[in-house]
Amino acid sequence: MKSYKRERPTFPKRVVITAGMPYGNKSLHFGHIGGVFVQADTFARFMRDRIGSENVIFVSGTDCYGSPIVASHKKITDENSGDVPQDALKDLESYVTYYHKLQAKVLKEYQVEPNLYAASALPPSSEMHTDVSKRVFDILEAKGTLIKLAAPQFFDTRANAYLNGRQVVGKCPFEGCQSDRGYADECSLGHQYMPSELIDPISILTSTVPELKDVENWYFDLERYLEPLKAMVSKLKRERARENVRNTIEEFLKDPAIHITRKEYAKLIESGVTFSHSALIDEPKKPSVTYTFINLSARDYARKVLDDASIRYRTGKTLVPFRLSGNIDWGVPVPPRSDMEALTFWVWPESLWAPISFTKTYLNQIDKPQDHWTKFWCEPDAKVYQFIGEDNIYFYGIAEMAMWMAYHDVLPEVLADGHSENQEHFIEAIEKINFPTLVANCHLLFLDSKASSSSDVKPPMADELLMHYTSDQLRMHFLSLGLSKRSVSFNPKPFNPTMNAEDQDVVLKDGNLLTHVFNRLVRSCFYTAQKYNEDRIPLLDVSEEMTTLIEKGVLEYELRMHEQEFHKVIYTLDELIRGTSKYWAKHMKIADDASDDQKRLQVLADAFYAVKVIATLLHPIVPESAEHLRTRLMLNESLWDWTNILASIDRHMDHSSNHTFNPIPPQYDFFVRHPSQL
Ligand SMILES: [Zn+2]
Repeated sequence: MKSYKRERPTFPKRVVITAGMPYGNKSLHFGHIGGVFVQADTFARFMRDRIGSENVIFVSGTDCYGSPIVASHKKITDENSGDVPQDALKDLESYVTYYHKLQAKVLKEYQVEPNLYAASALPPSSEMHTDVSKRVFDILEAKGTLIKLAAPQFFDTRANAYLNGRQVVGKCPFEGCQSDRGYADECSLGHQYMPSELIDPISILTSTVPELKDVENWYFDLERYLEPLKAMVSKLKRERARENVRNTIEEFLKDPAIHITRKEYAKLIESGVTFSHSALIDEPKKPSVTYTFINLSARDYARKVLDDASIRYRTGKTLVPFRLSGNIDWGVPVPPRSDMEALTFWVWPESLWAPISFTKTYLNQIDKPQDHWTKFWCEPDAKVYQFIGEDNIYFYGIAEMAMWMAYHDVLPEVLADGHSENQEHFIEAIEKINFPTLVANCHLLFLDSKASSSSDVKPPMADELLMHYTSDQLRMHFLSLGLSKRSVSFNPKPFNPTMNAEDQDVVLKDGNLLTHVFNRLVRSCFYTAQKYNEDRIPLLDVSEEMTTLIEKGVLEYELRMHEQEFHKVIYTLDELIRGTSKYWAKHMKIADDASDDQKRLQVLADAFYAVKVIATLLHPIVPESAEHLRTRLMLNESLWDWTNILASIDRHMDHSSNHTFNPIPPQYDFFVRHPSQL
């Protein structure tokens, strides 16, 4: 047993890979591609090679519904502004179709190829999505997990219409907020508040001041899932899920709380008002005291008491009912109930089950039966990997997982004392549930700050980057950033006004491994064989030194892919390619110095073996260039099948006895640079 050998990871038999859905009122910016899609696509391609492409379904799509789309469509139409063509403004469907097509085109240019890039409001998946949404609602309702709640909503009396999200503008109520505008319940910087708190609200429909009316909506009873979610987090810890996923979920799994500063607390004591609570945490060193409550209604009561006494407070993170419906027309219809008609799904919840709709649509297209999706989503030997940005962990990690538990009959009761059942009751059931794995990436910053359209230097759209780099170079760079653990800044030189002509472009560093180091190695192999061996790859046993180098790299690469640690994958490739280059330089010099033809053929055989293995490892990362290399080598497609990853090179030749590769002209590049860099 050699020291580098270790237990190889086991892979699921079937996988679904999803990438967070881009919103349907813009094309893709660098963060969509560099923060989510390149990673999801690389993993999907690796899994196709590793477990067979028929066992991998990679889906994503345009998120089409919701008030921001209605509002931006109206704005562009009213102002006749922007570069959206007239027929794309005809109606909302034309509008999202326009952006959906732009998104699909950019993905293709980045070699991102889902099995289906769908759109929630557009054929062929829209009908399926409406059907899946109805089924989800029916199931959640039948299991008793839905509740009706009334909340205030803006109403435009002149237009006789309820207003959603971005259809109301005003000023954010947060003290000192720098946002340019506030919407119905959040500002452009993401501060959340009650509609009644918005300062100077104006309806975008009629420019009048809207009223507030109480409106009933459907909510998922998320509060009940506190204990089951705690049990799920224990499972995530054991399975070593990403730290940001575990921590973010855990932050919300606390009893409802209210924080009051010492100054306000003094006012509370003086006022003499009281409310019931389960604990008062008063640590002398802390600037505020904290009340905790047995449930949300106890906290809501306390909030009312404090509001009435004009005492300011902050609420702590906790589970609150998850809204499922709204009354915007542009949405998936909610199945009507006698007292709840003409509602549509809120865009967040329906985007959580959209990947199921897309999986079913794809399975339909390849003539699989309706219920086949459960083989990919639910069965114990399958796995779902969801690539998302860490901002969305609340939705995917809490709301989605709790609904997934409800679907699998984890239905916690609320006990007489107001607490939900103890988590011990759910451990067994939760062990059996196959939860989707969240691959949540940290922020991809731009020039060291969080990208925002209001900053001085506008962050680039994804297609603009392709005017300066090849998609290979960008894929290599984005994978190398290590977004699994920390936020990293994207600093492309052509977009950085503070950089000088002589400064290095860090974006090119990882691509150079291919455009410089690996190119040189592969070229040397081809030229040497063209010169000394009649365009043939010598079929000799590979030396032990090379076998060891390759096996070590392959095992390391496989493990890192299994963990979705892409920067370590790139690091492993770097070591492997440089190691092979060194091997070549050292041994070929010995052969040349001694004019030893046999030694030369041996080194050539060793290097070609390394090149073919590295080609397979590069296939998920730079697919078109890897394919280019394969066709020049005249090897068949068995090269991509991981069953043969360490097999000798003749395994991939149709006729090994008279196999020749396709010779290359001088200064030939397998991995090309962008024309602007030449
Ligand atoms: Zn604000």
